[in-house]
Amino acid sequence: MSQLLEGKTVLILGVANKWSIAYAIAEACKREGGKVLLTYQGERQQRTVEDLGADVGASMVLNCDVTRDEEIGTLVEQLKAAGVTLDCVVHSIAFANREDLSRPFQQTSRAGFGLALDVSAYSLVAVSNALAPLMPNGGSILTLSYLGAVRVVPNYNVMGVAKAALEACVRYLANEMGAANIRVNAISAGPIKTASARGIKDFSKVLDGVAALAPLKRVTDPAEVADTAVFLASHLGRGVTGNVLYVDAGFQVMGLLGA
Ligand code: NAD
Repeated sequence: MSQLLEGKTVLILGVANKWSIAYAIAEACKREGGKVLLTYQGERQQRTVEDLGADVGASMVLNCDVTRDEEIGTLVEQLKAAGVTLDCVVHSIAFANREDLSRPFQQTSRAGFGLALDVSAYSLVAVSNALAPLMPNGGSILTLSYLGAVRVVPNYNVMGVAKAALEACVRYLANEMGAANIRVNAISAGPIKTASARGIKDFSKVLDGVAALAPLKRVTDPAEVADTAVFLASHLGRGVTGNVLYVDAGFQVMGLLGA
């Protein structure tokens, strides 16, 4: 059987450990014959991500803190120097201060608001603009969002505002980059137990609620998100851009919960 990403090169930003959604995406891209490149956020993660990179046969594992323009620039230079062209970029990155994911939203500080929006939304713009020249044949840029962008999810707070901005960025980028045949989409994933998710107060209650109430009566498996990422990266996704695709066991369609 032919593989969906044969001949395609996929750069994945956001692997921190083997539970990262980005790692599930890397595994699925490898399975489908894609050439995988990974980035990590600073020296602290380097060893772990290099080891995970070896597991998915990553041809390069490079540093990039997306809040630093110079590190995004260095990443581009390293890719250019290696003669890399990209078909797909996966942005699987978010951050907010822990206290902003537990105290009332109205107490969010100016600095905490700026930080969450910078890391979790603006970075998609910066990375897309920097990497587009490495996508001469067009391709797919993908980011990860969550229902908190459009509904109130307790404790998600400033991250919900950041995801709303991220989803708007997807639409504006899709419009501008479409002429270069670059498609830009988000997957809105159901809650998944990862390091980032553990920072959200009472996250296990969210998981229990989804398992009980979602149409599929279970939570989302990261492999399901990864398979949708493969679809979007592949020829099969060629008509899809500017979209937010829900991969959430159907939870987002529910109105009256528990009825
Ligand atoms: P994760 O903690 O494994 O991944 C988050 C990644 O963001 C880490 O690799 C971290 O290093 C990276 N990151 C944070 N700040 C960075 C910076 N300044 N520069 C570079 N990288 C930085 O958790 P995850 O759940 O896999 O999160 C991946 C994405 O999926 C995030 O955008 C998250 O909001 C989104 N998402 C997660 C869930 C969930 O329930 N886990 C649901 C929907 C969407």
